[in-house]
Amino acid sequence: MARIVMKFGGTSVSNTDRIKNVACLVKAEVDLGNEVAVVVSAMSGTTDQLVVWTNAVAQMKGSSREYDVVVASGEQITVGLLALALQNLGVKAKSWLAWQIPFYTDCVHGNARIVRIDTSIIRKDFGEGKVAVVAGFQGIAPNKSITTLGRGGSDTSAVALAVSLEADRCDIYTDVEGVYTTDPHFITKARKIDFVAHEEMLELASQGAKVLHTRAVAVAALHGLPIQVLSSLDKKPGTSIVEEGELVEKQVVTAIAYSTDEAKVTLIGLTDCPGVVGTIFEALADADINVDMIVQSVSQSGNFVDLTFTVSSSNINLVCNVLNVLKKDLGYIDIVYNTMVCKISVVGVGMRSEPGVAKIMFRTLAECGINIQLISTSEIRISVLISSGYLKLALQALHTAYGLDANCKFIKSNN
Ligand code: ADP
Ligand code: ASP
Ligand code: MG
Repeated sequence: MARIVMKFGGTSVSNTDRIKNVACLVKAEVDLGNEVAVVVSAMSGTTDQLVVWTNAVAQMKGSSREYDVVVASGEQITVGLLALALQNLGVKAKSWLAWQIPFYTDCVHGNARIVRIDTSIIRKDFGEGKVAVVAGFQGIAPNKSITTLGRGGSDTSAVALAVSLEADRCDIYTDVEGVYTTDPHFITKARKIDFVAHEEMLELASQGAKVLHTRAVAVAALHGLPIQVLSSLDKKPGTSIVEEGELVEKQVVTAIAYSTDEAKVTLIGLTDCPGVVGTIFEALADADINVDMIVQSVSQSGNFVDLTFTVSSSNINLVCNVLNVLKKDLGYIDIVYNTMVCKISVVGVGMRSEPGVAKIMFRTLAECGINIQLISTSEIRISVLISSGYLKLALQALHTAYGLDANCKFIKSNN
């Protein structure tokens, strides 16, 4: 007997037939004698609609207490329906909202972090032979306010619950067969990957591969929890997220992620003296703005610098406001920004020991006539910022250049 947490995303519960299908998948695990807790998202499109409604009544600067009350409500429908569908199949099941469990979080509305999960209710359900059907994405703050974990956050609910329950594994069911070499809904020659290292998955998720929520991967890696990503719509084997040491073959490039939620900002003519850049990034951090790629270049006269960085495109107005406030003190000449940019990231643990990965990337993009605007790297990732009009062309060309296309031979590292 195993203890497992099964998580079903929006497309897997997008209508009542799909919910009945999910109930059959859960029943199959129960019939094997397993203890099962299920975490579900809202029906696909529901949370988007709830966000639109909150914006229609009040244009919000950030997420607020009432925003969370509204956007958390989609999951209440699916837990109830799934518990009913399970009961209809003769499976003992009970639905739970996150505050009832509770999932304790901090107070950061719209992007809360789970602090602790009290698992006593679910353990009691297990003792009574019941399946616990738990609402993902939600939590409760110390002041009793409802919180949400950020878009896509029910993966994190599931993984955190699995860790707290000391589950044997967490199965993340979605609308594709697993983790692919790139988004299979955008690039048709993408190939399913059988094994991905935690570290690679962390880079891919944080660079835009929304198949897993970044914090879910981080929590699983921290606690050594086995997770697999698989389809709720057909019975093929999925992708296992494993320790790097468990990989039989280390790919130089395992997969390519992309993000279109990017804006490039340049401050022209900053005085070249200590403390200027610190002042800018301190002000941005105080406004809760995450900065990603950063490049500073010295002007031709040598007395001034230009500072370029990227932020989420949804933050661009806020960034300009913050920088305008600083203009008097810093005395820069101008701000220019561009939201028609995207970021492409190639990721693979084999990159650590294999030279030439950057060369392939830059040569491939050059052959396509694509100009690279910014570059950033980690030990196992190279990212470039390019004009968004070239996204598909660049992805297709890089996918082929790194040997990732379906039926293609892999480029292997030496160790
Ligand atoms: P769910 O609602 O089940 O949580 P998501 O929409 O959040 O599903 O994530 C699944 C989607 O992630 C897929 O439909 C796919 O379009 C997208 N995706 C992006 N990159 C990848 C990738 N490398 N592998 C698989 N899916 C990816
Ligand atoms: N329903 C939430 C969202 O759409 C959480 C999730 O799907 O993981 O973001
Ligand atoms: Mg998701």
